[in-house]
Amino acid sequence: MTMIDSNLQGVRARIAQACLAAGRAPDAVALLAVSKTFGPEAVCEAARAGQRRFGENYIQEAVAKMAQVAALGLPEPLEWHCIGPVQSNKTRLVAEHFDWVHTVDRLKIAERLSGQRPARLPPLQVCIQVSVDGASTKSGVAPDEALQLARAVAQLPRLRLRGVMSIPDEAPGYAAQLAVHLRVRQLFEALRDQGGAGFEDFDTLSLGMTGDLEAAVAAGSTMVRVGSGIFGARDYGARPA
Ligand SMILES: *Cc1c(COP(=O)(O)O)cnc(C)c1O
Repeated sequence: MTMIDSNLQGVRARIAQACLAAGRAPDAVALLAVSKTFGPEAVCEAARAGQRRFGENYIQEAVAKMAQVAALGLPEPLEWHCIGPVQSNKTRLVAEHFDWVHTVDRLKIAERLSGQRPARLPPLQVCIQVSVDGASTKSGVAPDEALQLARAVAQLPRLRLRGVMSIPDEAPGYAAQLAVHLRVRQLFEALRDQGGAGFEDFDTLSLGMTGDLEAAVAAGSTMVRVGSGIFGARDYGARPA
């Protein structure tokens, strides 16, 4: 068994244990493997171990990797999720290559993604990125602007609104992590309950990473994004910025 193989088993066991502790079904939480900075071989290794969903932050790196992975020939297609910031000049690449985008926090970007989504592909699945910490330097729409943005996104023809994503500030310890995650969960539920037309598939709470997935699952996450816990420590120096 490879390291990625055994790490994946360990992460799946953590998720299952967290679901059990929270009284949730063991399959209530999807695992997104965050493969940024790792090469196509690592992705294939995880895919051979049964992993299907992959998350990437850097658009150009990701699109190159997708082609390399495809060339390696996997039995089943993978699902690619964009979890990094999307600038205007990258929307076309995202619309043409990804299945999901978790990081929509501006209507202008959503409109471009919808306009550029090729007709041959199914709608792009999107989450609204929210920031409940209030740090204005961070990505993510403020809680009091989230409903308006989500409703506008829900009307775009080539996008399907799926839920909410957040990257809360690192918090020291389980209790602090849980507190901030619960605020995201509350916002998720408020949007779902108030949204109206276009919110029929609003079922995804993208929350939790390697260091805080237990608290995220306890708070109701339906998709955890795990990188280092699967692939090991990242070497940012090895890639262009
Ligand atoms: C890198 C990254 C992750 C994974 O972080 P780990 O701590 O390595 O699990 C998850 N979500 C986002 C948005 C990321 O950028």
